[in-house]
Order: sequence, then C-alpha cells, then structure tokens
Amino acid sequence: MYRIRFHGRGGQGMKTASRILGTAFFREGYEVQDAPRYGAERRGAPIFAYVRASHNKIFERGVIRNPNLVVVTDETLVTMPAAGVMQGVNTTTVLLIHSRLTSREWQDRLRLSNPVCILPLGEEGEAFMAWHFIGVMCAAAAARLTGALSRETFDLALGEELSGLTTSVIEENLVHARWAYDQMQNVQGCVHSISPIPASSYMKPDWIDLSFEDAKTSTPAIHRELTSEDVKTGLWRTMRPVINRDHCKSCYWICSTYCPDGAIRVDGDGRPHIDYVHCKGCLVCAKQCPNNAIEAVPEKEGDV
Ligand code: SF4
Ligand code: SF4
Repeated sequence: MYRIRFHGRGGQGMKTASRILGTAFFREGYEVQDAPRYGAERRGAPIFAYVRASHNKIFERGVIRNPNLVVVTDETLVTMPAAGVMQGVNTTTVLLIHSRLTSREWQDRLRLSNPVCILPLGEEGEAFMAWHFIGVMCAAAAARLTGALSRETFDLALGEELSGLTTSVIEENLVHARWAYDQMQNVQGCVHSISPIPASSYMKPDWIDLSFEDAKTSTPAIHRELTSEDVKTGLWRTMRPVINRDHCKSCYWICSTYCPDGAIRVDGDGRPHIDYVHCKGCLVCAKQCPNNAIEAVPEKEGDV
C-alpha cells in the first residue's frame, strides 16, 4: 500500500493534488482513498491531504500516521510543529520538498538519513514555478516517485479532475506537471509500496480516563490578555495585500471592518495600514475594497 501525505498551505491546491494523484492510482486499477484535512482557517493556513492506494482492499481509515511519502509544498512548514509534517516519519519514509536547499542540507537540518527528494525552487525552477501550480507539480512529482504511474495516466487524471476549467488553464497545468514529473527521473520508484498493517498488530489505544471536574477547576486558565498577538499569522501568507495609495479613498471603515483578523490599522488621517506580522493573506480586504486599491502581490515579490 502507498500512504502519501501532502502538506501545504490553504490556496496551494493540496486538496486538488490529492484528488489528481488518487484518480491516477484509480485509473491504474488501485483501490484508493483521498481526503483533505483542514480546519476553519482560510488561505495560507497549514493544511494537509492524504492518499492511500493499494491493489487490495483498504481497511485503514482516518489520517495517515505512517506515511511512505511526505510531500511538502512550502518548506517553511517542515519545522513548524503545528503543521505536523514530521508526524509518523520513520527511517524509510521518503520526503519530497519544494525547496531551494539540497537534499543533503535537509538531511543535516532534520538530522535524519531518509531519502529527501527536491522539487527545485531556485533559479531555473523559480522562473518556471508559479505558486498556483505547486499543487499539481507536487502531485506529478509524487506520482513519478512511486514508479507506479505513467505520465500518460497522470495527464489523464489531471484532465479529469480539472475538467471544470478552461482548456488553456488545463494545458498550463499539464505543462507544469510534466516539468515536475521529469524532474524526478533519477529517483523514480524510490517510494515503495508496503504491506498494510494487519489488524492483529494494531496497538490497543492507551485510554486515559478523565474524571469529571467542576467548572471552576476545568475552565482554561488564561493568565493574560491579547495572547493571539503572539501568533505570527503573517508567516502563513502566500499572497500579500498591498494598498495603492493613489487609488485609496480612505474609506477605511470598509477594509478595516472586513479584515477578519483586525490586521488593518487606521491612522489619525483615516489612512489604512496593513499589519504584515498578523495579516495572513486571505485577501478579503482586496475583494471588498470598492476602489480596487488593494493589490494581491506574490509574497516573495512584496516589500519586507
Ligand atoms: S477600502 Fe480600499 S479605498 Fe477604502 S480605505 Fe480601504 S484600501 Fe482604501
Ligand atoms: S489585511 Fe486583508 S489579507 Fe490581511 S488578513 Fe486582513 S483581510 Fe486578510
């Protein structure tokens, strides 16, 4: 069985990536499960999706705990404990990271000897890499790492899953996916199908009995106010809103009210300012601005 987990950020197409990969396996005669997992957060929040594929019936359910392959579309997530990228990674798990670093550098950073494959982000890769194609590119690279899916099968799966889009958009996705598929030529087949875990070897859950406590004891202890300020949600951003002062009419009550995170401050002259430490790049403000004065700029091109 293949157990593949995709980690990325909301908006990078993790759900679509897992759908396409799952469909490609299905076309090759595998039984498949694929599912995304995310909470209430929007664009930019860490999310993951997963795919199980096997020639036999799949009895496993739920989130993949022991992945054969972990795919990471945003390298900043690797060391973020809340993203859970390294959860369940054992000595045979292959990592595929979309990164400027080399596989050796990642092995040193993570202090592990697992195979680390790189979908390049720097120089040649960067010019080619538009962030909205990252999901399909990582899915294509993952397909080749399994050695079980031909490019033709992957292309058909991609076309099927994106069939609601225009022909030109599908073509663009195909071009990017094929490039990523080719990048994995030297490591094709390095992810091996492994036997399913027999039910008899499942560990009995280690139950913890929580005895009833009265409300005074069990209520969370909050020691100070404004702790949400300590969470730097600006790290989640893939696109940043930038206010064009030539178009802004200072109708600040619109953008500052719609921002779900209170990340737009208004100065004494009624001019809005975005707090980039906490703005998570949902771009609600850009949609609501009646004067189109807020542009969405890819994060790597934005001012620091
Ligand atoms: S809604 Fe748009 S035009 Fe109005 S203050 Fe905000 S950025 Fe400026
Ligand atoms: S400033 Fe705009 S992009 Fe940033 S969190 Fe607020 S609404 Fe979202």
